[in-house]
Amino acid sequence: MTRVALVTGGTRGIGAAISVALKAAGCKVAANYAGNDEAAQKFNAETGIPAYKWSVADYDACVAGIREVEADLGPIDILVNNAGITRDAMFHKMTLQQWREVIDTNLSGAFNMTHPLWGGMRDRKFGRIITISSINGQKGQAGQANYSASKAGEVGLTKALALEGARAGITVNNVCPGYIGTEMVRAVDEKVINERIIPQIPVGRLGEPEEIARCVVFLASDEAGFITGSTISANGGQYMA
Ligand code: NDP
Repeated sequence: MTRVALVTGGTRGIGAAISVALKAAGCKVAANYAGNDEAAQKFNAETGIPAYKWSVADYDACVAGIREVEADLGPIDILVNNAGITRDAMFHKMTLQQWREVIDTNLSGAFNMTHPLWGGMRDRKFGRIITISSINGQKGQAGQANYSASKAGEVGLTKALALEGARAGITVNNVCPGYIGTEMVRAVDEKVINERIIPQIPVGRLGEPEEIARCVVFLASDEAGFITGSTISANGGQYMA
């Protein structure tokens, strides 16, 4: 059976690798993105995966976007809540705007995408919801109170929904990546990456987006029906939750 998958933030970084891996696994895939049209067009040209623009921080836009994807591809079976941003600052310097932007995109974004899809998944007695959280939601990170709170919130949301979805054939899980070599991490000074970040990672390197994508493909598969409310920590041994 061909499953339909929607990946938020699915045109760049980890999300792009997830979109490609789900397509390779036989799914019909739609990739959402926020505003980087150039990256989305390049991704679409290279992969043939359709890209849809809306902000996951906007509930009404999510409802409209989901409707458009379902009109094109059919009912969505697999949702990957991957879209995420950082607005780093030490807490004494963090603005309310930095707090809100990160919570609205990362945590409310997961709600805004999951909530409109939940009823259809319940009716069809099948669903796979996979949310990309973070090692920093598990252990906390200085300079990222907003991001760590949003990512820990995603784990709580996942566990509650796993209980509610269990009898309806919906599994709800997290993947918590450690440091992965995407633009989000490459934005950090290379010296900091080499001298401060990599020495904290027992395997001695950054992770690859494809390594996260493989976890998602497994959790999205029909065969993973007994796994719900779980977190896969893919962090090179940096933090063992
Ligand atoms: P990138 O910055 O490389 O890509 C982010 C993607 O999310 C882009 O496609 C972007 O769209 C999209 N996006 C951002 N805001 C919104 C929004 N409001 N609505 C819709 N889409 C949006 O991020 P990564 O690939 O590094 O990260 C992906 C996920 O993995 C995030 O949730 C992140 O927190 C998590 N993560 C990443 C780690 C890492 O080391 N990279 C470590 C742990 C967790 P556009 O292209 O239009 O800007």
